[in-house]
Amino acid sequence: AKQIIQDQMISSTLEKIKYKLFIMSGKGGVGKSSVTVNVAAALAKLGFKVGIMDVDIHGPSVPRLLGLSGQLEGDERGGLIKPKKYDDNLYAVSMDSLLKDTDQAVLWRGPMKTSAIRQFISDVCWGELDFLVIDSPPGTGDEHMTVLKTIPDALCVVVTTPQELSLADVRKAVNFLQYAHASVLGVIENMSGLVCPHCHKEINLFKKGGGKELAEKYGLPFLGEIPLDPTTVVASDLGTPVVYLEEDSPAKNALLKIADEI
Ligand code: ADP
Repeated sequence: AKQIIQDQMISSTLEKIKYKLFIMSGKGGVGKSSVTVNVAAALAKLGFKVGIMDVDIHGPSVPRLLGLSGQLEGDERGGLIKPKKYDDNLYAVSMDSLLKDTDQAVLWRGPMKTSAIRQFISDVCWGELDFLVIDSPPGTGDEHMTVLKTIPDALCVVVTTPQELSLADVRKAVNFLQYAHASVLGVIENMSGLVCPHCHKEINLFKKGGGKELAEKYGLPFLGEIPLDPTTVVASDLGTPVVYLEEDSPAKNALLKIADEI
């Protein structure tokens, strides 16, 4: 009965959310969490109501990137979890804020992660949302399978850098998604070239165009490329999404274009 009640809670939470985006990457360090937060913030800036959910128990970055941290509160009825509010259009919640002892999670095995993620999806009261953007750990593991099984209409977005090493891992991620019969919204290339802040010419530090080639090869839509941009690092240290900064920057412009594309 517990399982059935949880299934019902999950479907009543999810039916109020129009689109669920599941952001993945083949490996760590490609900028997946930055892309998650900024794509979500760009959609919020376009006027949509957006929630960000971080299902990474081991290294959640979303709260830090938004300058939101600390324990979460229950709602008025005491049961459900209230996401943290960044502004009227942007809300976020991460799994680690539910854990009393985050160090313990390192010892968690697959079934424990699966049940924690299901519980988390059922217990957060998002209300009506246009988009729920889900950040995940790098690679393809229990967390990813659980999200895809629990949210069958999730649209997956794969983040890669243009480098061959990263692309090889992305190929594995794309194969995993095909095996799991997941819907793929498309591929984003991050750290794609660097615009010199002085001469404004482009330097292709990690090459460029690999993400687009890969998308073409697999018949997936290419959603766009985000250049390497020092503003991204400044913004993340400030706890502000780069698209929320006043001044224009190459990364901000690229992200707003991608949100438009989505
Ligand atoms: P992941 O989630 O894939 O492990 P992060 O989002 O934590 O990666 O990003 C890793 C580092 O790279 C962070 O310090 C982040 O600020 C930086 N970074 C990500 N994208 C860019 C970019 N387009 N330009 C410059 N720095 C970036």
